[in-house]
Amino acid sequence: MTDPEKTTRKRRKFPDSITQTIQMTHESSLSQMYDFVFRSSDNGIMVTDANGLIEMVNPAAAGMLAVHTEELLGKTPEEALSQNPALVNLFMREGEQTLDIRLPKRRIAVGVGRTLTSGERVVVIQDVTEKRELESRRESLTQRMTHDLRNPISAIIGFGELVGKYGDLNDEQRKFLMRLRQTTNKLYDVIGSLVDLAWIEAGMPLAHRPTQMSTVIDKAVNQIGTLALERHITIAISVQTPLPVIMGDPERLQIVIYNLLHNAIIYSDPESTVAIHAWGDDNDVYCSVGDRGIGIADDELDKVFDRMYRSRDERVRDTPGGGLGLTIAKTIIQRHGGDMWAASNLGLGSTFTLVLPTVRL
Ligand code: ADP
Repeated sequence: MTDPEKTTRKRRKFPDSITQTIQMTHESSLSQMYDFVFRSSDNGIMVTDANGLIEMVNPAAAGMLAVHTEELLGKTPEEALSQNPALVNLFMREGEQTLDIRLPKRRIAVGVGRTLTSGERVVVIQDVTEKRELESRRESLTQRMTHDLRNPISAIIGFGELVGKYGDLNDEQRKFLMRLRQTTNKLYDVIGSLVDLAWIEAGMPLAHRPTQMSTVIDKAVNQIGTLALERHITIAISVQTPLPVIMGDPERLQIVIYNLLHNAIIYSDPESTVAIHAWGDDNDVYCSVGDRGIGIADDELDKVFDRMYRSRDERVRDTPGGGLGLTIAKTIIQRHGGDMWAASNLGLGSTFTLVLPTVRL
């Protein structure tokens, strides 16, 4: 076995010249690595020196802007990029800034600018044209689905409401009308969820940015506030501070937390408490949503994540729902490189937990 003290002593005996050589080798391999990343990155990278003159432009940036690097070097951004005011702004503004940048040939990029302690300013631009197109295709798909499927269902719901207003109904008729309303409401929700799920499974692009789960949780809790209030459910939040940051799509993650809270509320008796916790370490961030509701039988625990699975429990059958919320939630988490699972005691309550890998900034 090596005695650590001896090793330390031995290391100290290196002559200064050798230590310097090791450090220089380390620095030179680091600079080789930065050089490699700079040249081969798909993202455009541009740097101005402390005097505000463009000193570095990588091939991706030159390609995106359709210019030769030499045309930009040594000039100020105003001189070199006068056709592109948003990009100039990214160089001129203080602190970290993010802006949409128009590129030639109707392409779009997102640019981020940041000033280094040396006074140099780095601007990174990412071409997001395809991603934006996909997003807008999703929007139009959702709108078409809404128009073609949801509107007729809304009409059925509307006419159903009218029946009772034009003459007295007997008990049976009233019961059938209520069932009609429940079923159409359910169908209405299922269509929305199916579009979401189809989109997520088709490889929907996810945003990839540093995300603080506590913010996501706050927004989801806010979003579910009215339902919680209606059902007199208290939501108790406890979040570790500081909570490590994860890399992901805050809007999709909000859907996940919203779906878990929604279930916790609708499958609990009024006046109870739903608890949401978040904690983490260097590697992972965890988030759990626990309730004291109806619970899930052991043999159904894994199935609840299956598409359109709904428990055979009568209290579930009496609650409208399409059995897609958990499928969507788990798929989003898995697309983030994480996982989700459930633990439950029938009649006592359930806890859904998710884990996401942290990012070191
Ligand atoms: P939905 O709630 O619309 O049925 P989900 O995919 O969200 O669809 O949930 C699937 C099933 O899992 C539910 O129908 C229910 O049986 C069960 N479930 C989900 N969350 C809970 C919960 N918090 N408590 C009890 N059962 C739950």
